[in-house]
Amino acid sequence: MARPLRVVIIGAGIGGIAAAGALRKLGHEVELYERAAGLGEVGAGIQIGPNGVKVLRALGLDSTLEGLGCEPTNIVSVAWDNAHLRFRQPLKAIAVQSYGAPYLSAHRADLHRLLLARVPESIIHLNAHCITVSSDARRAVARLADGSEVEADIIVGADGIKSTVRAALFGETPARFTEQIGWRGIVPIECVPRRIGPDKSVEIDPMEYVGWIGPGGHVICYPIRGGKLYNMYIGSISTDWAEESWAVPSSRNEMMQAFTGWNEALLGMFEKIEQVFKWGIYDRDPIPHWTKGRVTLLGDAAHPMMPTLAQGASITLEDAYTLARAMSRHADDAQRGLAAYERERIGRASRVQLQARQQFENNRKSPAPPPLSRDWIFEHDATAEPAVAAE
Ligand SMILES: Cc1cc2nc3c(=O)[nH]c(=O)nc-3n(C[C@H](O)[C@H](O)[C@H](O)COP(=O)(O)OP(=O)(O)OC[C@H]3O[C@@H](n4cnc5c(N)ncnc54)[C@H](O)[C@@H]3O)c2cc1C
Repeated sequence: MARPLRVVIIGAGIGGIAAAGALRKLGHEVELYERAAGLGEVGAGIQIGPNGVKVLRALGLDSTLEGLGCEPTNIVSVAWDNAHLRFRQPLKAIAVQSYGAPYLSAHRADLHRLLLARVPESIIHLNAHCITVSSDARRAVARLADGSEVEADIIVGADGIKSTVRAALFGETPARFTEQIGWRGIVPIECVPRRIGPDKSVEIDPMEYVGWIGPGGHVICYPIRGGKLYNMYIGSISTDWAEESWAVPSSRNEMMQAFTGWNEALLGMFEKIEQVFKWGIYDRDPIPHWTKGRVTLLGDAAHPMMPTLAQGASITLEDAYTLARAMSRHADDAQRGLAAYERERIGRASRVQLQARQQFENNRKSPAPPPLSRDWIFEHDATAEPAVAAE
């Protein structure tokens, strides 16, 4: 490598922190600017596909996330009203064999903390709200809300779904409300009923991934935090406006009302949720470029996607690793490095974004067609190339 690059990352979410870890691992100098006053994640679960787990391993995490990750054993589907079994398919038993890594579920805060432990605290600047970015032939500059400026060889906008960096590069892009809102809640694993359905004939295990499917709604449940907690994503059709955010506080009553008449076992779990968040699901088209000059985008800032494939974080992790590798290959020509990163990532990320949209549309059909295959997504190994290679 010619010389280490000076990299500024805007946003210390999963994407920004993973990118910092990957870039530092390959010898680059990184400074991270986060607008929040503290670091952390909202209390909610996250699924990490085998493609994401491969990147986590390359970043030095083990496949169990130090015992905090879970490997759901089966995918189970039950009906919303009488909880009869629609289907049960193995997941844990096939994931490593078919895709080369396990399928994990975890608490967002645990994943964030594990990634954070791999970067020094001294590189993270809190209360640092980026308001715009620019670049010229020699350097990139981020301007912060306090009037200060930071400069670097490249700037990475990892500032999430409502990215300021994306807007500065390409203008504001419209988002479409999908008339779907989701609540998120967590309960102790002991709250999961072991027998449900007609005459309690359906056995469920808290280590299974369970989907409750009904008219106008669906609920996805899986274990997190090493099997101590149970995460629920509770999706419902609504024409009401909801903010494009992952974490607006809501109330249990509001959520219960939308699920009147659903199975009592499910509603019993809802009763135990203490803190409820909701978010409105918006859809955005893929954008044709992520990079302008010496500034690029990563994660939700580049490819905000609907949650139907549960791939947002995994595709973001892939971005992080690929960016670090491309910049190392082209450390003597940062703009070439950014072009290589965009070239390697944009087609795949856009395809996943569009498949998430298609899956969303399919879920609304009655009867819903079988789920679209995610094999091509899971099989991918973003770390497969050597860390430094000729192009
Ligand atoms: C609660 C929650 C639940 C989710 N659930 C799912 C799911 O079930 N399935 C799925 O596929 N995806 C889900 N996602 C999305 C997935 O986690 C993301 O796709 C992935 O983590 C990418 O994160 P990111 O780092 O790009 O963005 P984010 O995690 O949004 O991080 C962006 C960071 O940038 C900071 N920031 C924003 N603007 C500025 C600025 N101007 N200046 C400085 N800092 C700024 C923010 O404070 C934040 O820390 C969820 C996200 C959240 C938050």
